[in-house]
Amino acid sequence: MRFAGLSRLQRGLAQLRDEHLVRRRRVLDGAQGAHVILDGRPVVSFCSNDYLGLAADPALTAAAHAALGQCGVGAGAAHLITGHHRFHGDFEAAFARFVGKPAALLFSAGYLANLGVLTSLAGRQGEIFADKLNHASLIDAAQLSGARCHRYRHLDLAQLEGQLAASTAADKLIVSDLVFSMDGDVAPVDALLDLAERYDAWLYLDDAHGFGVLNGGRGGLTERARASERVIYLATLGKAAGVAGAAVAAHADVVDWLVQKARPYVYTTASPPLLAACLTESLRQIEAGDARRARLANHVAHLRAGLADLNVGALLPSDTPIQPLVVGANDDALRLSQALLERGLLVPAIRPPTVPANTARLRISLSAAHSEADLARLVEALRDLA
Ligand SMILES: *Cc1c(COP(=O)(O)O)cnc(C)c1O
Repeated sequence: MRFAGLSRLQRGLAQLRDEHLVRRRRVLDGAQGAHVILDGRPVVSFCSNDYLGLAADPALTAAAHAALGQCGVGAGAAHLITGHHRFHGDFEAAFARFVGKPAALLFSAGYLANLGVLTSLAGRQGEIFADKLNHASLIDAAQLSGARCHRYRHLDLAQLEGQLAASTAADKLIVSDLVFSMDGDVAPVDALLDLAERYDAWLYLDDAHGFGVLNGGRGGLTERARASERVIYLATLGKAAGVAGAAVAAHADVVDWLVQKARPYVYTTASPPLLAACLTESLRQIEAGDARRARLANHVAHLRAGLADLNVGALLPSDTPIQPLVVGANDDALRLSQALLERGLLVPAIRPPTVPANTARLRISLSAAHSEADLARLVEALRDLA
């Protein structure tokens, strides 16, 4: 007899194929960068989150080699057992200082940090207020927390205020991407903080795409948000920082609470300490990275000017390195992405459920590692295909 569970799964896969929603992993050889070898062929990549070109930077790889000699490869245990290396602590202190918060905690991934923070700050009695376009990890974290979750329309602060006003929960937690990962737009931090103050809520900001890029690399926090005890800041460290992991910066007692309560911190092996050493070097490069950020800003301006009057889709308003060209239908987005790939340009088609239905798009992400010629090739190809 056939196993029914496997048959159901096979029907599910067939349905995904019919809907053009099957995802496939391309294989990268060599290092991450603007020019990569993918499935054995050279392409210009417009899809990494390595916005500053640090993922294969010689200063970071040198830091990795140096650390390797001192700490080996594995952390060997969780942070609360014997896995907490001096390199982890040194990075946390440097990160907190850089982003202007009293303390910080290093997680192994942004996904885990979001699970840890939301489940520790909002329990079953709490309520979470979340932008509808928040990253999947925040949506999952809200569900796992057991808190009642209200989702407000993207950036609709009037709807958010209505939800806050109606809440009687003691623990309220407003949760938002700071730079939205599929749209590239930026949350109004001070206006969110006004609401957090008025309704006595926490404000948790996920700056996966702003850290390293905005405000001299410090990310999207405003002065007021840095100073506020109720603001908790997340930077992921596998994107502009070029390494891996995520850091939560907050009041020292919030960090202490997370060390006690955040299960994705407590019950997982610490990340390899050599990565923390790389991250400390990455912070130095980010702090000294004005030239990289200026290059990136030039690339953004160049792309937007070049595609301003294009008729295959709409470039969403964005000043960040995330430049989405919304096409609409899944197969149109796929076809365009395929045609670009035939010209050696890798731009991913992003489809539902990652983005809302009928907003399939090319998600162009730019990096300081791109050259002007790379940008010119992309603009020319898109104009040609239009
Ligand atoms: C990438 C991303 C995450 C997850 O971070 P990882 O370190 O990759 O697990 C969380 N939030 C947002 C907004 C992201 O874009």
